[in-house]
Order: sequence, then C-alpha cells, then structure tokens
Amino acid sequence: MRLLLVEDDPLLGDGLQRALRADGYTVDWVDRGDQVLSALQREHFDLVLLDIGLPGLDGIQVLKKLRGGDSPIPVIVVSARDTLDDRVAGLDGGADDYLTKPFELDELRARIRARLRRGEDIKHEEIQLGELVIRPQSQEVFRDGELISLPRREFTLFLELVRSRGRVLTRERLEQALYGWSGDVESNALEVHIHHLRKKLGSDVIRTVRGVGYSVAEQ
Ligand code: CA
Repeated sequence: MRLLLVEDDPLLGDGLQRALRADGYTVDWVDRGDQVLSALQREHFDLVLLDIGLPGLDGIQVLKKLRGGDSPIPVIVVSARDTLDDRVAGLDGGADDYLTKPFELDELRARIRARLRRGEDIKHEEIQLGELVIRPQSQEVFRDGELISLPRREFTLFLELVRSRGRVLTRERLEQALYGWSGDVESNALEVHIHHLRKKLGSDVIRTVRGVGYSVAEQ
C-alpha cells in the first residue's frame, strides 16, 4: 500500500514517514499543497494524509481540487486546527476522516488501516439482483456471468435505482444523479436511458410508476 504524506513540518513529516515505512507502507512525502495533484497524477496512491496549513495550496483547497476532479482517493486530514468548524470544513470539503494534532501514532495507524480496509470492501462490492450481478467499482453488469455493456450514464442511472431498490425514485432525483444540480437536461433524456436499459437488461427490471418516477424491485 502506498501513502502520500503531505506535511510541511520537517520534523513531523520525517518522523511519520519513518514510522509508516517501518509499518510496511510505501510512503512518499511532499511538503507543499500544490504538489499533491501532480503527485497523484504521476503515481498511484492508496491514501493521502493531508495537513491543512500548507504553503502553496492549503489542505482545504487541495481537497476541493481533488473532489472537484472526482478523485475517490481516501484522505485523512491530520491538522492542528481543532475547532468544530475546522473539522466540519475538512469533512464537508471531502475528507474521509479528520485527526487533530497532537495525536497518538497508534490512533493514526488504526485510522489508516480502517480506511484502507473500507477501500478494499468497496472495490469488491457486488450487488446481486435476480440473475444480474452489479459491480459498482468497475461499472459492470453481468447476467449469468456474461458482461452486459452499459455506457456510463446508463450505469449511473441503473446503480442509483439498484441502491434504492424497493423504493420509487422521482424523476428529479434520477435526473440529478445523471446530470448533477446544474446540468441542463433534455426533457426526454431520462426516458431514453430507461428505454435502453430495459432493452439490455430485460423489460421487467425497471418499473414505471406513473406520474412519479421509476423503481427496481427488491428480489
Ligand atoms: Ca502545517
């Protein structure tokens, strides 16, 4: 497992890098916020440990850029900023966890392990729906072991329905899942996607609830 440590305090950075390397992680260390994105573009990392007070870009700005670019990489903020507002800003900004300095090394280790474990669970998540198997991480759907190829938007729409199976999702909710809050949606785009999904997955998988929206039955 490879960690990117972002810390501008030389003593703490050096100490953390040594300790985490001794635990068996590969640890790269950068000391400026504006080096994070290029490091993540160059190399694969499994987790980021992110300070907030940093030269270049501060940690909150780094988080914004990461999440704005849809990077799903787990981020644990490790910061001396310890007010409730700071922690809320970090978590709302897209951090997965927030640890305040000073901290016990054992606690940081435990949080890193927990976060990496969750990443593994997500990677291997499979949803069984009748004879369909859905793998969210790789955006694949299988029927009897055979891959059914879905474009990204169709997959996104189907996954939204599957994750809420047994409930009716409104058109508005599904359009938001497809296009976000700001996107202009053509009035029949949703129907077109549903039509394609039914052709590929079977006509009875997605149910129309007239005047409301759509649902996928719990199997
Ligand atoms: Ca700092």
